[in-house]
Amino acid sequence: MESLYDVAIIGGGPSGSTAATFLARLGRKVIVFEREKFPRFRIGESLLPQSMDAFERLGVVEKLESKFLPKYGAEITTSCGTGRVKNLFRNGLGAKHDRAYQVTRSDFDKMMLDHAAENGATVMEETSVESLGFGPEEVELVVKNGGETKKIRARYLLDCSGRGSMVGNYFKLRRSYENLKKFSVFAHYENVDRDEGVEGTFIRLIRGRDRWFWMIPLTATKMSIGIVMDIVDFKALKQTPEAALDQAIREQPQIWSRMGEATRVTEVHSASDYSYRNISLYGDRWLLAGDAAGFIDPIFSTGVFLGIRSGEDAAHALDQALKNPRSRSSLFKKYERDLQRVMNLYLRFVNNWYKPQFAEVITHPVNNLKLAATGNAVLAGNLSNSFAVWWRMEVFYLVVFLQRYLPLCPRVSLNPKDCTVLSSRPSKAKAVARV
Ligand SMILES: Cc1cc2nc3c(=O)[nH]c(=O)nc-3n(C[C@H](O)[C@H](O)[C@H](O)COP(=O)(O)OP(=O)(O)OC[C@H]3O[C@@H](n4cnc5c(N)ncnc54)[C@H](O)[C@@H]3O)c2cc1C
Repeated sequence: MESLYDVAIIGGGPSGSTAATFLARLGRKVIVFEREKFPRFRIGESLLPQSMDAFERLGVVEKLESKFLPKYGAEITTSCGTGRVKNLFRNGLGAKHDRAYQVTRSDFDKMMLDHAAENGATVMEETSVESLGFGPEEVELVVKNGGETKKIRARYLLDCSGRGSMVGNYFKLRRSYENLKKFSVFAHYENVDRDEGVEGTFIRLIRGRDRWFWMIPLTATKMSIGIVMDIVDFKALKQTPEAALDQAIREQPQIWSRMGEATRVTEVHSASDYSYRNISLYGDRWLLAGDAAGFIDPIFSTGVFLGIRSGEDAAHALDQALKNPRSRSSLFKKYERDLQRVMNLYLRFVNNWYKPQFAEVITHPVNNLKLAATGNAVLAGNLSNSFAVWWRMEVFYLVVFLQRYLPLCPRVSLNPKDCTVLSSRPSKAKAVARV
């Protein structure tokens, strides 16, 4: 039998590696089990400025700066480009940071996990957690590496296993959102046209009638392109994910007009039915963080931000519980309350995004009451802490509600068939080329 760890972590993605780094720095004996060998593919490439403070505390800013493309803002446009907003993060209400990064996740996750090991965490790659046992004073995990199986004991377990939600499934805590049954398909492309200068670093979100697209520049020449639609709509297409992505790109003028020299350079990946929440985020001996706690929707790029935030908060709650076991219950309760509150804020924003009139409002920004600067701040991840942002968001939601009945902002079509410009096929289209 192995010695007793303070904390065992399932999963070495951003939430697990963040928690491991903070716990190791606090002097805790922490072990991370990651079933894959990094680098490995992951989706979730656009980070938020709101994570920059945590990156500073983690001590990874120099590594980020040297490896990844800065992201100075975000653009949202409607199908034909008739509604469009471009936000530089530095102009957001109360902006503290002018940038985030867009990252190839395989490299980012490896950098973060290596950083945890450099800070003193024990990292076991290619080691999967196979089963869980919970006692009053400790947890016991059965882990498997190659053909070898071992038992590991720890005072606490932190589940960072991602959408697999190992502990959530064990205790049957997972609930899906019936209104967010989405399907997503995505790939990387070389040589997609992009804007000059700083706007060339922006994430672009394109809102169509029954779908939306992302364009995320990952390097000077590589771009991630993805599409999100209802699962039922994807099934009705009766196409492979690859064919669906290809056709959707051809039908979307805001993207197709930029694909003249483009070549797909990765295989096509897909994900579906990924929006859910666990009804409880803690027990006597465990906490859930990152996607293992819940994932709402990719639209506002909040996944890694919430993973890092909850990883850090969980590390501090666990450290305090180890120091003072009597305070455990109140610490864990507070951890859960804070994380559920932030997820609720994002859930409301996401639910609004899927109303057609939301696109009309957000792409026609007015800075009365600093509403445009507030929308910008929210896109940077600043949704949670400030009263100044909160009340302005209430006004924004009121405008979105009224827009349904009164055209406070110009009406725009979200149907690409209504576009009169940009619909021509680019000259040298190679977007469908296989890798
Ligand atoms: C279509 C789509 C687009 C997205 N786009 C964005 C975006 O632009 N920006 C953004 O911030 N987020 C985005 N996300 C969300 C993002 O992918 C996740 O929120 C983020 O990866 C969560 O990090 P995590 O550490 O919690 O989990 P993960 O990154 O999933 O890591 C979990 C790790 O646990 C390991 N694991 C699982 N089970 C076990 C086990 N039993 N034993 C050992 N190891 C195990 C896995 O191998 C994995 O490495 C997107 C999500 C989707 C579906």
